[in-house]
Amino acid sequence: MTQFVPFIGKTDYFNSNPRLPLWQLIPPPVLPLSWLLSLNINPGLIPPFRIIPDCGVWSYKNLKIPRIGNNLVTPLWAIKQYQKRAKPGDIVIAIDHLLMGINNEERREFNRQSSQQFLKLSKLYLPQCYPMAVIHGIGISQKLQELKRLYHLGYRYFAVGGLLSNSHNQHQLLGIVEIIKNHLSDNCYLHILGVSNYQLAGKFGQLAINSHDSSTWIKEAFLGYYYHWKNNKLNKLKLSSINLPSCSCTACSFLGVQLLSRREYKLKLAAHNLIQNLLAYGEYQCREKPLSLL
Ligand SMILES: [Zn+2]
Repeated sequence: MTQFVPFIGKTDYFNSNPRLPLWQLIPPPVLPLSWLLSLNINPGLIPPFRIIPDCGVWSYKNLKIPRIGNNLVTPLWAIKQYQKRAKPGDIVIAIDHLLMGINNEERREFNRQSSQQFLKLSKLYLPQCYPMAVIHGIGISQKLQELKRLYHLGYRYFAVGGLLSNSHNQHQLLGIVEIIKNHLSDNCYLHILGVSNYQLAGKFGQLAINSHDSSTWIKEAFLGYYYHWKNNKLNKLKLSSINLPSCSCTACSFLGVQLLSRREYKLKLAAHNLIQNLLAYGEYQCREKPLSLL
């Protein structure tokens, strides 16, 4: 089954003593087994599940030379940061740079060199983790070339990045994902970075994609959006007041009568939204028919 990997941020916990992390409000039947972290954010709590840390490429996408705070983003620097967070079995993502239409040749060269160095260093410093490379490329033929190069380097865990520009056209996006999946051997793992919704989750399931992630559920909660899974339908509405509609999910029931700060109220809404989305993801995966766009 395709896993949904929620993004965990800096302060995704409630200020009780001890801190109550958001993931403790998710009921076990839908609790995600993996969580995504980014190096540009220092999380207050690390989830006790598999983590997939990445380099937070969006935070430096406009910089010619990748930098986070005062640090140059290099394979060795990233590995040292990952060592503080990762445990055996986690998936660590090689540093990369987005192809944005400017300085693309330098960015490609950065990706080429980084992927080589990262693989060597991860074997040395994080031998019990799985190094994952991000496939970048303008158009499908460049992406397939890059996949071939990364496979020959020795990677078996891959992520497809830079698909946000295709997110307005889901048919096109799924076509790219399907072609890449068909070029992978059975011993490879494929993750889709940063594009996800419940319809896509069903299609990713049919394509046997291993995992996909999103931070939309938490961003939308902080913008006041409320999800509700009812009668096999996921409804979304914009809340006009601070009071949440009555709900019996584990997040709402557990935190229903507690006095929450404004941040915690948004976090409660995020936990509620995540549960509703996870229920929908599970249902859509079962419902979708086999898919072939080729
Ligand atoms: Zn709820």
